[in-house]
Amino acid sequence: MKVVHTIEELRDQLRGQLRVSFVPTMGNLHEGHLALMKTARHHGDPVVASIFVNRLQFGPNEDFDRYPRTLASDIEKLERDRNVYVLFAPDEKELYPEPQQFRVQPADDLGGMLEGEFRPGFFEGVSTIVLKLFSCVQPQVAVFGKKDYQQLMVVRKMCRQFQLPTQIVPQETVRAEDGLALSSRNGYLSADERAEAPALYRVLNDVKTRLAQGARDPLALEQEAAAVLQQRGWQVDYIALRRQHDLNAPTAHDMQAGTPLVTLAAAKLGRTRLIDNLEMLPG
Ligand code: AMP
Repeated sequence: MKVVHTIEELRDQLRGQLRVSFVPTMGNLHEGHLALMKTARHHGDPVVASIFVNRLQFGPNEDFDRYPRTLASDIEKLERDRNVYVLFAPDEKELYPEPQQFRVQPADDLGGMLEGEFRPGFFEGVSTIVLKLFSCVQPQVAVFGKKDYQQLMVVRKMCRQFQLPTQIVPQETVRAEDGLALSSRNGYLSADERAEAPALYRVLNDVKTRLAQGARDPLALEQEAAAVLQQRGWQVDYIALRRQHDLNAPTAHDMQAGTPLVTLAAAKLGRTRLIDNLEMLPG
C-alpha cells in the first residue's frame, strides 16, 4: 500500500486509472471501516482510502481535539487486509490551505433535521469535505456506511444534484457481538458505559418488533423507546421513526401501505454521544 500525504502524490498514483473506488474515513479504523474497504474492492480497482479528521464538521463544543488519531496502527490494519492500494492521509494545510469560503450546504429538509438539528453545520462540513475529497480522488465509486444513515443520504443526494460521476455504494452496519455498532467514539466509553451501550440497539430492535406486530403510532413508539433509555440514564437527543426514502415522518397511509421505514437514534451515555439506526417495516 502506498501512503501519500499530498494531492500531487495522490494524482501521480492514480494517473490513468478509470475504476477508482474510494472510502473516506476519519481514521481510528475498526472492522466497520475494513468492511467498507472490502466492499470498495468488489466495486472497483484500485481502492483509495483516506484518513482525515475534518475540523469543518465538528461543532465548537464537540470532540475535534480529542478525536483518536492512530495513523500508524491504521496503516498496519490496512496493510494486513490488502484491499487498499493508496492511503491518502493529508494534513489540514493540504486540504484547507486557506479559509474555506465556498461550502456545500444541504437544504434544511434533509440536512437540517435529526443530526443536522443537533449538530448545526455538521452536514455542511461533511458535504464540503466529501466534495473536496471527490475532487482529489475522482472516484467512480465511493462506499459509505449505513451506520451514518442520514450522512449516506446527504452524500448521495449531493452527488445526484451536482451530477457528480461517482456512484455511492452503501455498506451494512458492522456490530460487536452484543449488538453495539462499531464506532471510533466507542473508545471514549468507560467499562460500565460500554456494558450499557448495547441498550441503544436493543431499543431499536424493540421498535422493530412492535412495528412488525402491528403497532401503528410512530410517536408512541418513539416516546416509549426514549423513555426506556432515559430510565437507564441516557440523555436522548432523538429517537425518530422515519421513511427510508426521504427521512420524513411516516403518514397513516405509509403505516398502512408498508412503506419501508428506519428508526434513527442519537443519545449520550455520560460524555459520549452514540448514534445508531435500524431499518424496519410496518407489519
Ligand atoms: P468515520 O471514520 O466515522 O467518519 O466513518 C467513515 C465511514 O465508515 C463512514 O462511511 C461511516 O458510515 C462508516 N462506518 C463507521 N462505522 C461503521 C460501522 N460500524 N459499520 C459500517 N460502516 C461504518
